[in-house]
Amino acid sequence: LIELEGVHKAFGDLHVLKDCDLRVAEGEVAVLIGPSGSGKSTLLRCINQLEEPTAGRVRIAGVTQGYAEEPLPDGRWQKLSPKQIARQRARIGMVFQRFDLFPHMTALQNVMEAPVHVLGRPKAQAEKDALALLERVGLADRAEHYPSELSGGQQQRVAIARALAMEPELMLFDEPTSALDPELVAEVLTVLKELAEGGMTMVVVTHEMGFAREVADQVVFMADGQILEQGSPEQVIDHPQSDRLQGFLASVL
Ligand code: ATP
Ligand code: MG
Repeated sequence: LIELEGVHKAFGDLHVLKDCDLRVAEGEVAVLIGPSGSGKSTLLRCINQLEEPTAGRVRIAGVTQGYAEEPLPDGRWQKLSPKQIARQRARIGMVFQRFDLFPHMTALQNVMEAPVHVLGRPKAQAEKDALALLERVGLADRAEHYPSELSGGQQQRVAIARALAMEPELMLFDEPTSALDPELVAEVLTVLKELAEGGMTMVVVTHEMGFAREVADQVVFMADGQILEQGSPEQVIDHPQSDRLQGFLASVL
């Protein structure tokens, strides 16, 4: 479902992603780990079209993002139009480290907003769907609460429900639990785990190694903008090959 091939990204002189290859099949969960500044968020943002790769290809469900299938005569890849990009982006749900709910809307309104205003769903239908999603993340009784009245873990679960309301084909999570108090981490990871068990294709940046071990089909270790090791949790977490990965694991385990 996701294919990155030779993806590079530079911000001016700063070469942030170097020749990254990644494949995530439908229904698979990839967990991305690596030190701060290694390019994990940038890689997610390339998948999501929030960043345009400097070189390489990003294909989601057979559609190449940012660059067309065949190079133009001058050797450059042809870009998708803004409209095509918007259509592609709508297929991808993303949840960030910081809960980015609309503060002036209740949990229910937050989840309904995009289906009503982007997909043009009738309000009654969107409300019914939103309540079902809130129930799925264990927040049926918090629908009328404003974000300021919810804990961080609850806000993050609303953010997940809001992303799911767009019926995405795949979900990207960028450190969804790292801003949470330790006792609230589990409730969010449980929702992620249930999503994975339901067959959602997911790429998750997290340093929760227990989660990676239990849920990931593949673990991807990034350092200095490169994918240094990737494989099953057993291969990557239990049998790290490089000093870099061994050192990193020692710091998070
Ligand atoms: P963290 O674990 O701290 O979130 P990360 O692995 O997600 O780190 P990125 O956020 O992808 O790392 O950043 C990789 C590098 O790219 C960093 O050096 C960062 O400063 C740089 N960078 C990211 N976005 C931009 C940007 N828009 N302009 C310039 N530099 C950027
Ligand atoms: Mg990051």
